[in-house]
Parts: sequence; C-alpha cells; structure tokens
Amino acid sequence: MDEVLATILRRDPEQREFHQAVGELLATIRPVLDRHPEYRRHAVVERLVEPERMIMFRVPWMDDQGAIHVNRGYRVEMNSAIGPYKGGLRFHPSVNLSIIKFLAFEQVFKNSLTTLAMGGAKGGADFDPKGRSDAEIMRFCQAFMAELFRHIGEDTDVPAGDIGVGAREIGYLFGMYKKLQNKFTGVLTGKGLAWGGSLIRPEATGYGVVYFTAAMLAHRGETLAGKRCLVSGSGNVAQFVAEKIVQMGGTVLSLSDSSGHIYDEEGIDASKLEFIKTLKNIHRGRIGEYSERYPHALYVAANPTLGWNPLWRYPADCALPAATQNELNLADAQHLAAAGVRLVCEGANMPSTPEAIAFFRDQGILFGPAKAANAGGVAVSGLEMAQDAMRISWSREEVEGRLRAIMHTIHRTCLEAAAAYGLEGDYLAGANIAGFVKVADAMLDQGLV
Ligand code: NDP
Repeated sequence: MDEVLATILRRDPEQREFHQAVGELLATIRPVLDRHPEYRRHAVVERLVEPERMIMFRVPWMDDQGAIHVNRGYRVEMNSAIGPYKGGLRFHPSVNLSIIKFLAFEQVFKNSLTTLAMGGAKGGADFDPKGRSDAEIMRFCQAFMAELFRHIGEDTDVPAGDIGVGAREIGYLFGMYKKLQNKFTGVLTGKGLAWGGSLIRPEATGYGVVYFTAAMLAHRGETLAGKRCLVSGSGNVAQFVAEKIVQMGGTVLSLSDSSGHIYDEEGIDASKLEFIKTLKNIHRGRIGEYSERYPHALYVAANPTLGWNPLWRYPADCALPAATQNELNLADAQHLAAAGVRLVCEGANMPSTPEAIAFFRDQGILFGPAKAANAGGVAVSGLEMAQDAMRISWSREEVEGRLRAIMHTIHRTCLEAAAAYGLEGDYLAGANIAGFVKVADAMLDQGLV
C-alpha cells in the first residue's frame, strides 16, 4: 500500500485531491488484501489507481462580445471492469486533472455500490459558467461536445451532470452529440423528460442522501423527525437534500453558496425552498437574497481567511455537507461536535478532510461517506439508461421506490462488509471494502487488460 501511494506521489506530485481519495481508500482496505493475497498477486490496486484512459482537450469558444476564449476539457475513464464508464461532468474554474481523477476514482467504488453495472469516469472543464448568458453556455457546451463525442457512447461512456452542469447544459451537450453522431441514444443522463430523461433524476442524489441518513438513524433506533439539520450548498444536491429532510419531518437550518451562507432558525420549509429553487435554477441568483426575502434569517458572507466555516457552528443534530470537496475541516468538525451534532452524512464528493473524518470516528459521531450516501444520483442515472434502452418511462413512484430500495441495500451492504472484517458500524470501511471487492473480483475474472 505504501509503495502504491509512493508511486502516485512520485508520478503526479501535484495531484493533492487524487492522493487524498486514494489514501482514504487504501487506509481501509488493508484487511481485505491481507485476507485475499490474490489481489496483491494480480496487482489489482496498482491497476486501480491508474486510469484506463485520460483525455484532455482544447475547448475554444466565442463570448457574446466576439472575444475568443480557450478552456481545457477533461474525461478520465478510470475503470470499466463492471460496466461502461459512467460519471458526471463538472464546469468550474477550479477543475484540473487532480480533481477529475479524484472524482473518477471515487466514482468507480460508488458505482460498484449501487448494484448496477456501471464503471467509473468523470470529466469537465475549467470553465466558469457564472455570469455567462444562455447563448454563451450553449456555445461552450457545443465546443466541449465537438471533441468529447468521439470518446463516449451508450455502451462505452455515459456522462451526466455535476457542479455547473445541470439540465440546461445536458440539453445543449445532448443536442450537439445527436447532431454529430446522427443518433438518438441514451449517451447522457439527466436528460429532459420529453427526450429520454427519467423522473426523479434531478431529485435522486439529494433524496438518496437523506434515505441513507434516515437508515443510519433507524439503525440506532432513531428517526429524522424533529432533527435539526445543517446543510451546505444550494445547488442540485443541497436543494433536494433539504426537500427530503422537510418531507421526513426534520428541520433545515442552513444553506450556502460560494459567497456565504444563510441561517434560518425557524427552518427552511417547503415554500421557502421553492423560493430558493427559483432563485438558483431560474434567476441564477446568490443565496444572500434569501435574507432580503426573509429578513429574520441571517446571512453571513464567506470569509476564506478564517480557515473554518461559521456555518458549522450552529446548534444542530445532523450535518449534511452538499457543496464541494474539502469544505469541512478539523476545526469545523470540532465546532460541529461542540454544537451537538451526532451524525454527518456527505452529500458532496469528499467534503470532509481526512482529519475531520478521523475526528468524527474518534468521537463516535455517525459518519456516512459520500461514495455510499450520495450514490442515489448515479443509481437513478443507471435506471435512466435502462429506461432508454427499453424505450419506456417508469412512473415517479416506481423510480423513487427503486431509489429507496437501492439506498437501503447500500446501507446494509456497508454494515455487512464492515462486520465481515470486525469493524461493526464503520460505514466508511464498509463502503470502501464492498465497493472495492466487487470491482477487484471483476478485474481478476477479466485477466490482465
Ligand atoms: P451545483 O453546481 O448544482 O451546486 C454546487 C453548490 O456548491 C453551489 O451552491 C455552489 O455555490 C457550491 N460550491 C461549489 N463550489 C464551491 C466552492 N469552491 N466553495 C463553496 N461553495 C461551492 O452542483 P451539485 O449540487 O450537483 O454538486 C454538489 C456536490 O455534490 C459536488 O461535490 C458533486 O460532485 C456532488 N455530487 C453531485 C451529484 C449530482 O447528481 N449532481 C451526484 C453525486 C455527487 P456557487 O453557486 O456559488 O458556486
């Protein structure tokens, strides 16, 4: 394990996020490798940390004033042992190869946990959609797909959304793919309902996180009803995390964006959430506008120089980070514990730093890791692929029922995998072990490829 880590550090010394994701996995699968020497003999881990394919490309596009911009596009196809590559696209100025590799790596094990046949990939561009017109977004998506189309396909690699890529972007990307290939296929998920999309796909990641949270609580004989929850982010995942918490009788106290956070002691109920959805999804506004509409609520501007996030200091029972990676560090974790939080469930990918996770586990705070807890989005993407292949659409109840069943299965799988190694109740170890074993066995079956 140490050699594997040393190799990736030597090969790609600047890829901090990727090292973090690999380090977290390796720290928990050691007992599996000890029990199964065949994985070592066949260099399964060495092969898992090296992407099967990495594509980097130029994305030139023109803004509304006629100025030309050049961004960098990525698609990292990490592992296809258990199915075609699958994973989202992220448009954000922070995107680089390290971030896309960490996300693709996580995606491999997350997809394995869903029980569906999907390999792992991730892609995106260092493009900042903030403040861009619809026409600029469309031109960027078309330029991005003008290269990506030759690498993807419904049986090869099926991208979806992530930060900065929602229904609007998936529409433009799909339109361009269809034009270039002259084929109407389920090559992207998160599509519009009228053209191959699935009901519940927009809600799936957030709802799934809350089903997983509820399952963790139920395992301790508790429910979400009456629980006060801190949620970060206000995008796709956060909005539907908040919606499901409210539906299950919990109270949502906070939401955020990169400019700051809001805190509403009275709770962000269904009608206030509708205001946020319109603000974010239609007007593309900032979360601070919430406290103009609801003046009793507090708005606190982000202050990166603090080194910790004041959002995590309010008294609460549960915390669900749903914005971005490494948004919750050791100081935040200590503040959460002091504020009474007994459960942390990750909506975003890798939102907690390794030090924060170690603190939660030391303190006996229930910890739901992203690769298990937020797998509902890709699971329903898998269901969208199935509906596309059969050219049928399932009802809302059918899809949500399947999502709920998948999240409960993932929850049970994590507990069982952890218990098999004497690590009762350790969701992090359980998710890593179960996700790893399925992919590793498939790699052994398929030989050295
Ligand atoms: P969105 O783009 O819809 O929303 C992202 C939210 O996080 C926004 O509120 C955004 O604020 C905030 N944010 C992004 N970057 C930063 C940053 N550097 N600092 C502070 N806030 C930030 O993305 P999603 O909701 O889809 O994704 C959120 C997380 O969930 C990501 O980690 C993603 O990988 C993960 N995820 C998403 C899935 C999906 O189905 N969409 C599936 C599984 C995981 P602002 O608008 O100011 O940038």
